[in-house]
Amino acid sequence: PDEVGGRRRVLLKLSGEVFGGGKLGVDPVTVRGVAEQIAATVGKVEVAIVVGGGNFFRGAELSQSGMDRSRADYMGMLGTVMNCLALQDFLEQAGVETRVQSAISMAQVAEAYIPRRAIRHMEKDRVVIFGAGAGLPYFSTDTVAAQRALEVRADVVLMAKSGVDGVYTADPKKDPDAVKLDRLTYDEALLKNIRVMDQTAMTMCKDNKLDMVVFGMEGEGNVTRAILGETIGTVVTV
Ligand code: UDP
Repeated sequence: PDEVGGRRRVLLKLSGEVFGGGKLGVDPVTVRGVAEQIAATVGKVEVAIVVGGGNFFRGAELSQSGMDRSRADYMGMLGTVMNCLALQDFLEQAGVETRVQSAISMAQVAEAYIPRRAIRHMEKDRVVIFGAGAGLPYFSTDTVAAQRALEVRADVVLMAKSGVDGVYTADPKKDPDAVKLDRLTYDEALLKNIRVMDQTAMTMCKDNKLDMVVFGMEGEGNVTRAILGETIGTVVTV
């Protein structure tokens, strides 16, 4: 954690399903709602966001239908950039200065990913949105969330989930005996194969002692609460 400036700095991961409202493409009502919740925290907390793209394309799925995996992954990454631009628009409508930084160069719509500049933006109360994943096929935006959080020295990764409000002992949609956990260690999650994020991402968080909060999008003001550091969802630690 970077204590310079003394402010809390968070890395929020928003998956594609958050943007699509469960469908293909971008659902403006949902994105506006999320943007307004983020806007409510500006000035109090420094916020960077990693955006997923599953509402457009997932490389692994496209490759199963016969596409070359790397090319399909690039399509996936380009999808994340569309989500970034939608989020940027609604954040700016809510009065928040934002910058999109892309891992694939596309100067007309986004800055390049420059970590020190991202930190500077946050210090100036700008929300930074990271798009195009890592710019590398075979990676996921979960892994990118862990990597970006480490590189910009965020205090915590906040994993916003749709349809579930934290980590459970089993899948709550299938197992009525599933119990929600308030706390969990990375070792327990890895050992019990609890997939809160992919294994690469979890290992990266574990090895670098980066805490994660898994929380549900649905509750009123939950995104705001998570950013402000309220106890919510499940905390995953070393
Ligand atoms: N992707 C990639 N490299 C990255 C990040 C993403 O190749 O660094 C591709 C991959 O095909 C992935 C897609 O982009 O399926 C969308 O990202 P992801 O599935 O992580 O989005 P989410 O599940 O969060 O919506």
